[in-house]
Amino acid sequence: MMLIFPQRRTNHFDDLFSGPPPHGGYGGPPPHGPPPPGVPGRELTSIQPWDPSQSPPPPGFHGTGPLPIDDPNSHDPTYPPPSIHDVRQFQGYEKVGGFGRTQPVPPLVLPQPPSGDPPGMEFDQIANLNKEQCREAMLNYVSEHCCFGKKAARQMEINKILPLSALHYTLETFCENRSTGYVFRPYQGGFVDGPEYGIPPLPWQIPCTFDQMFHDHTKKIEVPHTAVLKRCHGCHGHGWLRCHRCQGRGQVRCGFCHGRGNTQRYDRDRGHYNAPCNTCGGDGHKRCGRCSGDGRITCSVCQGFKRLKCYIELTVAFVNNYDDHILEKTDMPDELVRHVGGTVIMEQTLPFVWPITSYPIAEICNASARLVSDHRQRFAAQKQISQRQQLRAVPVTEVLYQWKDASFRFWVYGNERKVHAPEYPQQCCWGCTIL
Ligand SMILES: [Zn+2]
Ligand SMILES: [Zn+2]
Ligand SMILES: [Zn+2]
Repeated sequence: MMLIFPQRRTNHFDDLFSGPPPHGGYGGPPPHGPPPPGVPGRELTSIQPWDPSQSPPPPGFHGTGPLPIDDPNSHDPTYPPPSIHDVRQFQGYEKVGGFGRTQPVPPLVLPQPPSGDPPGMEFDQIANLNKEQCREAMLNYVSEHCCFGKKAARQMEINKILPLSALHYTLETFCENRSTGYVFRPYQGGFVDGPEYGIPPLPWQIPCTFDQMFHDHTKKIEVPHTAVLKRCHGCHGHGWLRCHRCQGRGQVRCGFCHGRGNTQRYDRDRGHYNAPCNTCGGDGHKRCGRCSGDGRITCSVCQGFKRLKCYIELTVAFVNNYDDHILEKTDMPDELVRHVGGTVIMEQTLPFVWPITSYPIAEICNASARLVSDHRQRFAAQKQISQRQQLRAVPVTEVLYQWKDASFRFWVYGNERKVHAPEYPQQCCWGCTIL
């Protein structure tokens, strides 16, 4: 059966989301372009991180007094992000998330569902299996299970074949969500696109396109003209921190002998006796394993680069929202048809789809109407890029057969001709134990 309706396409979405940039443009030069000539203080060459060989620790740094006991399980200290109070505020970014947090930004204009006549919908027909194809599928299934006996599959008498194709309706709504938040990175040199280069474009004015429609993925973009350099708050701009494990001493007391240099041992001939500690070689102290004796370690916040670049980051999340409905009338579990091949009877991709109304099976039309309406409501506040609906027929054949005077059933499903045979009579090593 082939049903054809007149085709009419409306594409409101393109009118709303393409076209010229907003009045005033996107706010100046591109984020990674070179700075205008004559602007001082912007290193274009890369900066080297701090390294203990650059200069020794300041005089008196190592300190005196008893050495701390070594703790090999100690962790590097952690630092909170920079203070949000001294980063700049930008127009249109009043609700930006703080460091490490993002705040959703609702779109200013939303595409609206179209009105008018639905576009044409065509429905194809589906094919069925015969007895021999069903037996072959069962034999393949049995051979995949090494302890199943083949005899039943070869000898079974197929009494009846019921072709009962399942219908699988899917609806996908592909949306774009944007959020902003402050981030910081160790500044390793290069152009800093700060507020002096222009007014930052608004979150939804920044161009960003998806890589693949109907696939979840996320993109992160530095918002132009929001970057500032800050002295690292972890190390106060030194690039290094006092080593927490030795407290800057470079040496630690041996944790095994507690600094005594020797340990008590025992053997049958000598009884208890003192011997040099194996861990520290009898010194009672050893070089710190974290800072290699320098007393300083690279700052974990700036990774030794001394300064941080702070800027607003735009997160663009492309999300595919998927729902489906399976119409499957046999006793086979319905969900088996979800991930197997079938025949596409109808597929449509539009900015907004119309629900199916003209398919001869009412349950499909009802499911389509319900899911389309549900997606309209659920994603009403999101920027919807496209919708796709698909109706597939997945072949499901119920086979009734007899073997050794007993009746059984199995199902062949999917283009792959997978078999669901929970009642198969020769399971559990029948094939290898019965002659
Ligand atoms: Zn020791
Ligand atoms: Zn140390
Ligand atoms: Zn630092």
